[in-house]
Amino acid sequence: MKSKKLKHEFKNVWKEADDALLTEIMDMGEDYKVFLDACKTEREATDEIVRRAVEKGFVDINGLIQSKKSISVGDKIYAVNRNKSVVLYVIGEELIEDGVRIVGGHIDSPRIDLKPNPLYEAEEMAMFKTHYYGGIKKYQWLSQPLSLHGRIMKKNGEYIDISIGEDESEPVFFITDILPHLAKDQYKKSLSEAVPGESLNLLIGSMPLKGDEEEKELVKANVLKILNEKYDITEFDLLSSELEVVPAAKARDLGFDRSMIMGYGHDDRVCSYTGLMAILDVEKPKYTSVGMYMDKEEIGSTGNTGSLSAFFENTLAELINLQKGSYSELLMRRCLNNTKVLSADVTAAFDPNFPTVLEKNNATRISRGIAFSKYTGSGGKYSTSDANAEYFREVIDIFEEADVIWQVGELGKVDQGGGGTIAYILANRGADVIDCGVPVLSMHGTYEVASKADIYMAYKAYRAFFVKG
Ligand code: MN
Ligand code: MN
Repeated sequence: MKSKKLKHEFKNVWKEADDALLTEIMDMGEDYKVFLDACKTEREATDEIVRRAVEKGFVDINGLIQSKKSISVGDKIYAVNRNKSVVLYVIGEELIEDGVRIVGGHIDSPRIDLKPNPLYEAEEMAMFKTHYYGGIKKYQWLSQPLSLHGRIMKKNGEYIDISIGEDESEPVFFITDILPHLAKDQYKKSLSEAVPGESLNLLIGSMPLKGDEEEKELVKANVLKILNEKYDITEFDLLSSELEVVPAAKARDLGFDRSMIMGYGHDDRVCSYTGLMAILDVEKPKYTSVGMYMDKEEIGSTGNTGSLSAFFENTLAELINLQKGSYSELLMRRCLNNTKVLSADVTAAFDPNFPTVLEKNNATRISRGIAFSKYTGSGGKYSTSDANAEYFREVIDIFEEADVIWQVGELGKVDQGGGGTIAYILANRGADVIDCGVPVLSMHGTYEVASKADIYMAYKAYRAFFVKG
């Protein structure tokens, strides 16, 4: 054997792509930008995923449960959890107890949330107090246009969904920074201490209310008047609202060659999008296909909308019941033990600006296709699900057969830090799981970078897994 054949080199998607593939890659990039702009929060992503699924014939699981209708091969079903997470099913030829094939991602991204009692006035400016969500580098959020998204609850379950700052005709919001002229003390602090969490206050107004001079805090009063006129709410209604601050700019092509996309929230809407596009292609699979789009990954997958919640298994239990006419715990255990999962999450691509944090031979590169992470974790593989060799090779074989361009890496040098995904959660229940997703630059930044080539390869990989897995 020639020594060239004995060595392995990962491929660059652009070098391999013919004109037809190039067109498909670029077309998917266009659609993904639309998706990303429509999905700035987990609630918006939930709505958009359901909208696209319904268009393809998916029906609400609740209707099936109520009608006690049996399910059969090719049925397309969705389940929504509290407007914040979604699961899609395409029922397969085999029984659910024989296992399902899951591509699971998350639809929450690092951001800044408003505090429960957010509104105050300082130095004749109106501000919102905030509490950041997930792993952000706080300094990145200063001095740039921000938008406000979320749900304001009113009496008797009524609510208002708001989105302000995305359309160019709308105002944006802002977190101020110290001018460099006066930043002598700030410069001396470490990056993690230079911007205290309690200074991430959002500037939202500066015009005092007229005609009510008895009142104190006239700028705050004026903001409340505007909110009241626009949404018919008072400060009382803000207390229980969930309002999220995110970067206001739209996803854009990046580079002279338009090969990349810069946008907010690639982590992990890029894997949720590609997983979604893959399952929307699936008709009558051998094993039931499952698309998971979960909330709260960025803060540990906790709570009743995160992956640690009973939501997914509850929907699976309902489907077992509809398929068999009865439910037993044993069937659920069999199902999970026979289940195979791609934990669809982004990983850190090698960045030539910061070459020291990743180990070159085990770092992923943008444009080299979907990236496997056999394990994540930190400090000696701590707290990770380390995929078994048998399953890893099984997935590689599926990808190879489907001409998927893929690569292998790990998240950073040994002892440099680390991270986690939802992989361990289903692995703990007995399923085979491996992480594989799109490599990104500037991960967890206000804007992140992904290659259109990798986005397309993730879609192709997830589709192959559903069909051949
Ligand atoms: Mn992620
Ligand atoms: Mn993340």
